[in-house]
Amino acid sequence: MGCVNEKQKPKTYNYSMGKKLNIRSLDHAGLREIATRYGQKPFRGDQLVHWLYGRGARDFAEMVNLPGDFRAKLDRDFEVAYPTLVKRQVAADKTRKYLVQLADGTLVETVAIPERRRLTVCLSTQVGCAMGCVFCATGQMGLMRSLAAGEMLDQLMMVRQDFADATGGDAVDRLPVAPAAVAVAASTSPLRISNVVAMGQGEPFANYDATLAALRMINDPALYGIGARHITVSTCGLLRPLERFATEPEQFTLAISLHSAVQATRDALMPELSHQPLAQLREALIYYLQNTSRRPSLEYVLIAGVNDNAAELAALLDFCAVPAPGFHVNLIRLNPLPALASGASQPLTSAAPAAMRTFQKALAQANVSASVRTPRGADILGACGQLASQGA
Ligand code: SF4
Repeated sequence: MGCVNEKQKPKTYNYSMGKKLNIRSLDHAGLREIATRYGQKPFRGDQLVHWLYGRGARDFAEMVNLPGDFRAKLDRDFEVAYPTLVKRQVAADKTRKYLVQLADGTLVETVAIPERRRLTVCLSTQVGCAMGCVFCATGQMGLMRSLAAGEMLDQLMMVRQDFADATGGDAVDRLPVAPAAVAVAASTSPLRISNVVAMGQGEPFANYDATLAALRMINDPALYGIGARHITVSTCGLLRPLERFATEPEQFTLAISLHSAVQATRDALMPELSHQPLAQLREALIYYLQNTSRRPSLEYVLIAGVNDNAAELAALLDFCAVPAPGFHVNLIRLNPLPALASGASQPLTSAAPAAMRTFQKALAQANVSASVRTPRGADILGACGQLASQGA
């Protein structure tokens, strides 16, 4: 795999396959354009968005507030195709993982993480990933293609339906809540999607336009209405898109996969980013801090004998010495990788709990906020770094 250039856009599947174009491959702007091209006012495109991504319409005939001749033309020229849910797994901690087959047959995974009062969806933005991070199963797949915005929305729709269908409309009954919390929880049913993280398969900033279009529809009050601060983009920090993200009007949250503040270590862990100096990443993050006044998180998977020593800690502390509001560091246990199709083994192991505590304490002493992230869904290979589109 060659060095990834963020200017190179991975192919996005156009759905046509010699048949009618799937109208759900179009995002909000694209549907408004279709409306005007067919002689309608742009608001007809908004209505299409509502039907396709809000209501999950499967046929143009359902879209009763659209003019009949417009519906007939759409039916003549487009199809309405949805992905197929291939497999659904539920972990001991109630995390759910979904294997989804897209219209072109490729597979992608989505994770839903229920908690007492919230439901977080970890969605994928690409099939596979070009970044090749050595601790990540998705990275070992390589990149197959980027997802269209609608395919990201599909993942949310699937989770929303699953939590409604599988629980009879009361997902809270199935959550791991303490007995004292049940009365509170039971009054808040059904559990709705409250948070979205673009942290599944893929590098969102390598599919920037489609990812932002999807996040905007997730934020749209007429669709999911999830507040921008509850929508997080997790990226390894491609510089140019990061600078662009710093100027977006929405208050989306940013998470950076750092994993080491030592250049040689990070290059070894994240080989496809080795062209990108850490000093430039830090500068871009300072620009982000100054432009947005929002605090990004730094993701740090602690790996035994790799990035858990004193020199790595000192480098991390230096990296975090930035203007207010500063960074929040998430310390993450390395989850075991699934068996890879190539037969490659996973030589890396998670750092000891004592190393986690040492890092957390040192960060606190340096006034850097930090937390140890509890892995969710590891027994179904649904935790960070484990997604690999495995059908078996
Ligand atoms: S950690 Fe993220 S950027 Fe790295 S290979 Fe995995 S999905 Fe891609």
